Amino acid sequence: MTESWTQAWREAIVTDTRPVGRGARLLHLMVPDELPFPFQPGHVVSLRDGAVRHPYTICQADPVRRRLGLLFRVIPGGRLTPALDGAGPGHRVELNGLHHAPVLEGIAPAAAAVVGLSTGSGIGPLWGFAEQALDQGFHRPISLFAGFREEADLCLAAELDELQAAHPGFRWHPTLTRPSGAWQGLRGRVGESAPALIPEPRACHFHLVGNGAMLAEMKAALALCGVPSEQVTSEVFFNFNAEADPETVRAIAARFSTPQA
Ligand SMILES: Cc1cc2nc3c(=O)[nH]c(=O)nc-3n(C[C@H](O)[C@H](O)[C@H](O)COP(=O)(O)OP(=O)(O)OC[C@H]3O[C@@H](n4cnc5c(N)ncnc54)[C@H](O)[C@@H]3O)c2cc1C
Repeated sequence: MTESWTQAWREAIVTDTRPVGRGARLLHLMVPDELPFPFQPGHVVSLRDGAVRHPYTICQADPVRRRLGLLFRVIPGGRLTPALDGAGPGHRVELNGLHHAPVLEGIAPAAAAVVGLSTGSGIGPLWGFAEQALDQGFHRPISLFAGFREEADLCLAAELDELQAAHPGFRWHPTLTRPSGAWQGLRGRVGESAPALIPEPRACHFHLVGNGAMLAEMKAALALCGVPSEQVTSEVFFNFNAEADPETVRAIAARFSTPQA
């Protein structure tokens, strides 16, 4: 997308904001101008509040009300997110751009099922994609595996449970690295708990979002398992230069039930 309107800084007004897990907030913004509004879950916009700006990935987009939803992690001592955390309805920020592609657009036509893998706030765009796809009658199964540290860190659990209850073809699985003794769900990092539950990885499209370390390791493991590269899409939020540790990659690949390519 190179149209000039994508270069413009546009006013965006906070309409509502609420916590959706410890240190995570879902922010809705209304864009009152008359410029195009082609946003979809997975597009990235730059958000500017005062002198600081950062990219954020769209979770929800409503072209009728011209409203966008973004999920962000509040970084203690961070330059922007503590201010955004305190921004109430009516607060004005600026946004620009239309970067990257909607998650739905990137799903390989050949894939029989979609698997989303996230760390932390990366669950936001995966939730938004699932909501959009299911709303449009997407017929292939969608499973999300979302990594967090503790129970209190779970993001969007009520929203994801609701989506799961409404759509038999949609499942989501939180996995915790530091669960309490009472936790009944998956344990460990995404790369430890998810692979054994994904029966035919070569038939799946994988969308990975969040910490660059998880993405680097998982991408390498999927390649080792013979998953075609066009069936893997991703969005790194931070830790861009992380390198995959070969031992960890082999261990993740071995957990998939398919023989390595
Ligand atoms: C393409 C792209 C899309 C992004 N989309 C989102 C999004 O939808 N939601 C979101 O929360 N963030 C997203 N980010 C990260 C975001 O742009 C900022 O880096 C983040 O919000 C930092 O804000 P800050 O100014 O408060 O922290 P800073 O003062 O910039 O401190 C940054 C520190 O926080 C760490 N960090 C940055 N993002 C995260 C995170 N999500 N979780 C844990 N640690 C982090 C960095 O490694 C660094 O150590 C995205 C980044 C990119 C490149």
